[in-house]
Formats: sequence, C-alpha cells, structure tokens
Amino acid sequence: MEPPLPPDSHYMQLPREVLIGKQVAPLVGATLTRLGIRGRALIVTGPQVKNIAADIVLTSLNESGFSARTSIVEGSTTEQVILVENQIHEFKPDIIVGVGGGKDIDVAKLSSMHTSKQFLSVPTAASHDGIASPLVSMKGLDRPYSYVAHSPVAIVADTSIIGRSPYRLIASGCGDVVAKYTAVRDWKLAHRIKNEYYGDYAAELAIMSSRLVMKNSSSIRMVSESGVRTLVEALISCGVSMSIAGTSRPCSGAEHLFSHYLTMKAPRPALHGEQCGVGTILCAYLHGANWELIKEVLHKIGAPTTATELGIEQEYVVEALTKAHTIRPERYTILGESGLTKEAAQRVASITGVAS
Ligand SMILES: [Zn+2]
Repeated sequence: MEPPLPPDSHYMQLPREVLIGKQVAPLVGATLTRLGIRGRALIVTGPQVKNIAADIVLTSLNESGFSARTSIVEGSTTEQVILVENQIHEFKPDIIVGVGGGKDIDVAKLSSMHTSKQFLSVPTAASHDGIASPLVSMKGLDRPYSYVAHSPVAIVADTSIIGRSPYRLIASGCGDVVAKYTAVRDWKLAHRIKNEYYGDYAAELAIMSSRLVMKNSSSIRMVSESGVRTLVEALISCGVSMSIAGTSRPCSGAEHLFSHYLTMKAPRPALHGEQCGVGTILCAYLHGANWELIKEVLHKIGAPTTATELGIEQEYVVEALTKAHTIRPERYTILGESGLTKEAAQRVASITGVAS
C-alpha cells in the first residue's frame, strides 16, 4: 500500500518521451532502448491493426534485441484485460506495448497497471484522447465513463498510419478535442459553485488544443500531414492536461455526459467523439458561448452536427439533456443538479438545429 498523500496534492504522471511523425512506428524498439528498457516485450493489439502496425512494431522490437510476443485482443472488456494479465504473469515482460485504436490501448493500459508494468502507446487512429491519457473506459465496469489509471511511459504516434485510418475516426477525434471548449467552462463553473479544485495550467492546455484544432480544420479535412499532426498533438496535449490535473475535468464536462448517455441509451450510438462534438454545440449554447462557431467548425471538418447526422433519433438527444446529469452526479456541470426540463431541452435542440 502506498502512503496517503497530504491534502491538496496529487501526482502528475506524464509520458517521458513522445515521438510523432511519418514512419516512426519502426522506431518503437529504439525508443525503449533510449529509455533504458530492454528484455521482453508484450504487444497488445487488435485483429484489424495487426498487419497495419503491430507487425512493424514486432520487427522493430526484435531488431532492438527484445524477445517479443503479440497478444490479440477482441474489444475492451474486463475478460480481455484478465486474459492479457494472465499472459503477463506467464511471459513476465519488461514492457507492454499497446498498438491500435483506443480499445486496444485501453486493454494495454489497464492490464499493465494491474501488474505494475510500464506501457508504451502506439495509436493507429486519432478518434479520441484516450490514446495518450492516463484514463481508461472499459466495457463491463459499473460506470460508463473513464477513470484514472496510469500514463504511458512513451507515445510513438506514426502519422502515416493514423492518416490512412478511416476519415470518420479523424473527424471523431476532432469532436473530442473541440469538446474541451465546454469541458473547461464546466470545470470553472464547478470551481465557482462547488469550490472544486481548478488548475489554470491544465485548463489552458486543454483550451489551446481545442483552439488549434478549430484553427486548422481545413488542413485536417484534407488529411494533410500537418493536419493529422495537429490533431494528434492536440489529443496528446489533452492527455497531458488530464495528467497534470489528476482528473479528466479539463477534458470532460456536460458534453461528455451527453455522449455517455447516448452510448448507453441510444439503440445505435455514434462514435464517442462525434457525440461529444454535438454535445459541445448544445452545451456552448447553455453557457451563453459561441455555439455557432462550434457548429461551423464541426461542419467544416465533416463531423456530425445534428441528431440525424449522428444517426440517432431526436428523442434521445432531448432525453440526454434532461437525464445525463444522473450518470455522474458528483461532476457538476451546466446541466445542474436536476438537468434541463423537457421543454428547455427541446428548445435548445431546436435553436441550435441539433434536432427540429
Ligand atoms: Zn472524450
């Protein structure tokens, strides 16, 4: 057992190295060597990305003298985490390397934390900020939202691999970054109303990420090298802001509760970041902020801005505004302690054009 921390203190656990650029995946082995890590490596990856990225990482590890094995996981469930933990106990790796989308990285993150191992993150998609954050969101847990696990020791983000992922994932990643526009407003609000801890530095870092993605929406839409890089850097910075804050607060406010609600209740939910983007339009309106700008940026990026574009029935969008506050009652947001009334929710959805 670790000794308890004095009040008003928390650890800031940050990645030691971030390598980002074209064709950097073959440098995973060299990156670990630079960090003084050697010996055995367990790659945790999904079936779709094995050929795209995990095999490149495996070769890189072998060339750097690692004894490496690959573990293929199917989704982020607690069963998959236990499976990987058993493999860790048996193989006794010195490092876990998560290669893939958010789900594969989450399994690597959680199984490495449970077994007190370090992990390195190799994201193959930029669909949300979990690729670089200390947080995990797993299926099979009793809550739909993320909680703090541990940070990757290093991140190797190959923009040539990420740039080839389906565009929908990139647009979704933008939605998750734009969401910080309202997440930080909610954090400030909770500080004022509930005297919750608030950190300017973490908040500014999250806001800066959302501002940069908004500013570079055209180059992201073109999937140019600089556009993809801006998005990946923004997602990594969001992860770092959560590490600094010691909580997901700078990156997750009412727009995230809205998205979690849809993921739980809608028959055919959209992607996390897509839902967060639409939630940001609605919550920006509630904050009296520039919701038109958010809508315009998301539209330019090619991310959904309405219930129809999300493929979700309008009634769930209205319901989410009235009930999403119940998902995480301790997280005070613009939705307040009782949520919006149905009439207010309908009005917000209609004024912003999210639902008619
Ligand atoms: Zn998110």
